[in-house]
Amino acid sequence: MIIILKPDAPEAKIQELIDNLQKSNNIQVQRIDGVNYSVLGLVGDTVALEIESIREKEVVKKVMRIQEPYKKVNRAFHPDNTIIKGNGFEIGGNKLAVMAGPCSVESEEQIVSLAKKVKASGANFLRGGAFKPRTNPYRFQGFGLEGIKYLETARAETGLPIVTEITNVELIELFVEKIDVIQVGARNMQNYVLLSELGKTKKPVLLKRGLSATIEEWLMSAEYIVAGGNPNVVLCERGIRTYETFTRNTLDLSAVPVIKRLSHLPVIVDPSHATGLWWAVEPLAVAGICVGADGVMIEVHEDPSEALSDGKQSLLPEKFSALVHKLQDAADMMGREL
Ligand code: PEP
Ligand code: MN
Repeated sequence: MIIILKPDAPEAKIQELIDNLQKSNNIQVQRIDGVNYSVLGLVGDTVALEIESIREKEVVKKVMRIQEPYKKVNRAFHPDNTIIKGNGFEIGGNKLAVMAGPCSVESEEQIVSLAKKVKASGANFLRGGAFKPRTNPYRFQGFGLEGIKYLETARAETGLPIVTEITNVELIELFVEKIDVIQVGARNMQNYVLLSELGKTKKPVLLKRGLSATIEEWLMSAEYIVAGGNPNVVLCERGIRTYETFTRNTLDLSAVPVIKRLSHLPVIVDPSHATGLWWAVEPLAVAGICVGADGVMIEVHEDPSEALSDGKQSLLPEKFSALVHKLQDAADMMGREL
């Protein structure tokens, strides 16, 4: 961190600032006095410093961070890609993660039948929501624990690891026992209590990007989990809110190479929630792989018009199968396996 001091700053106040910085933060301050300005270079662990409170000091003209505020998820401190290992699966290695299934688990028959179909088409994870944090409180909220049981049956019948969303801290113990990848939805990306508690487990966590979250805010949320002791975080770009309303959200494809540059964590894309339109899902899934994503999450339903949630963005199983064929070309181009 670099602090530029005001030209007329009283010497006693400058010394007070230097002493406070060195005393409380295990930081060394190197001072350079120029003709017009003096500059303080801070060396050490500046991550915990409150940059705003330094900015407010009367002797300070400008403060510049050199290092990002996140540390554990920062590629600077961990140059190699993180590969998340679960029970019989990996995310972030050469093989792409293809997570597919309905938005909501609707019945045991539905999830078992779909699991078999998406597996036969090339999915290597089954997704399905049991706890649904809906924007509208009057809409279907998910079958809860019953839905988790159905997902377990589908896993037992297909061998596919299961990915499902957690909505509160009380569910963590159950999810750790029963779920392979715990999804934190966009609406909970900044539920820091939930993130910290998930940091105390070792379960893979799929952290979706918040509806209006910047990349830095998203990485700071990942930092909560990793700093808590759980290194197994997969990021998921699921579209952000922009001025465009034709699509449900705007898929921020540029976030993928940005994340790859800033962080060592795997990142997948979810073109279903990003577009809200089933016919736009395939081209954006392909695009996601082409910009370097480690996988995709796709909503699939056998009868989208009757789906209890997100039918408009759900693919029929045949369409999902065609999508996987297209993904194969993208995977070949990127030197990845499907
Ligand atoms: C979902 O995956 O069904 C979901 C609700 O996603 P998001 O949190 O990205 O809206
Ligand atoms: Mn959905």
